[in-house]
Amino acid sequence: MTAQPVLIVGSIGIDDVETPFGKAERVLGGSAVYASAAASLLAPVRLVGVAGEDLPKDAFGFLERRGVDLQGLQVVKGGKTFRWSGKYHFDLNARDTLLTELNTLGTFEPRLPASYRDTRFVFLGNLQPRVQEQVLHGLSGRPTLTVMDTMNLWIETARQDLGRVLEGVDVLVINDSEARMLTGTHNLVRAASAIRLLGPANVVIKKGEHGALLFTAQGTFSAPALPLEDVFDPTGAGDAFAGGFIGSLAREGKTDMEAMRRAVIAGSAAASFCVEQFSVQGLRDRTPRDLEQRIQRFRDLARWS
Ligand code: AMP
Repeated sequence: MTAQPVLIVGSIGIDDVETPFGKAERVLGGSAVYASAAASLLAPVRLVGVAGEDLPKDAFGFLERRGVDLQGLQVVKGGKTFRWSGKYHFDLNARDTLLTELNTLGTFEPRLPASYRDTRFVFLGNLQPRVQEQVLHGLSGRPTLTVMDTMNLWIETARQDLGRVLEGVDVLVINDSEARMLTGTHNLVRAASAIRLLGPANVVIKKGEHGALLFTAQGTFSAPALPLEDVFDPTGAGDAFAGGFIGSLAREGKTDMEAMRRAVIAGSAAASFCVEQFSVQGLRDRTPRDLEQRIQRFRDLARWS
């Protein structure tokens, strides 16, 4: 079976990031960029996003070379690209957001090129729920699988819009603290059950360096995170996870529990590349073969008899 294309919408950003190991300024980021960098190792990607003219001309060169379709990229004349800045604590699972400037993302009206409308695997990356909803409405027919991400900002400021998007998707991928915030429940098993009542039949809760949990009607799956010696920058790991997750499902054209287990591992492998370097550096020079080899390391890590 040939891989199905994946539609990815999300933010395109210029980030300033500080971790205990160094700083990166004005580097490429954004949920759509990280997710596309990961998903394109597994399946053809159709990107939807907005940027300003301040984005370096070759910013998307590595994605183009992977065959990512950029017809859905809007570059606003005279506009400024979304800006975000974050600083990580010594415990890399904790970070402070220092700056969020929506710029062109604040007025983004996604337009789906005609050739995107029949996409069957759709990832709604982290951005305003209103925009995620518009993308869903722009599709023709019902997709095979819709996966979404969100964050604390939208849980706090756009709760109603978020509720409507949740009702219409198949999978929510969310980190542990945001799952707790969304449901007001500390226990992650209970939080996942509460989220499933909001709409998505499947929930993936990411726990940073402690791995990820998948909750479905067929049961629960737990994946470890790869123990790595070099973790420089966790930025985008969640988006890379989601890109690897949906990319794996699109490659197989399947959405059953076994395929979802494999997808959680593919997502974890993509995330492990992401955190090894700043910005998208850890993903940009990787090949599908590199990803396959890293997936094998997960097999060895969790094997027991
Ligand atoms: P993650 O580490 O998975 O939360 O993703 C980090 C990326 O998300 C960064 O590259 C940011 O540019 C982007 N980002 C941060 N805040 C927002 C936001 N409010 N909306 C959309 N994207 C964001």
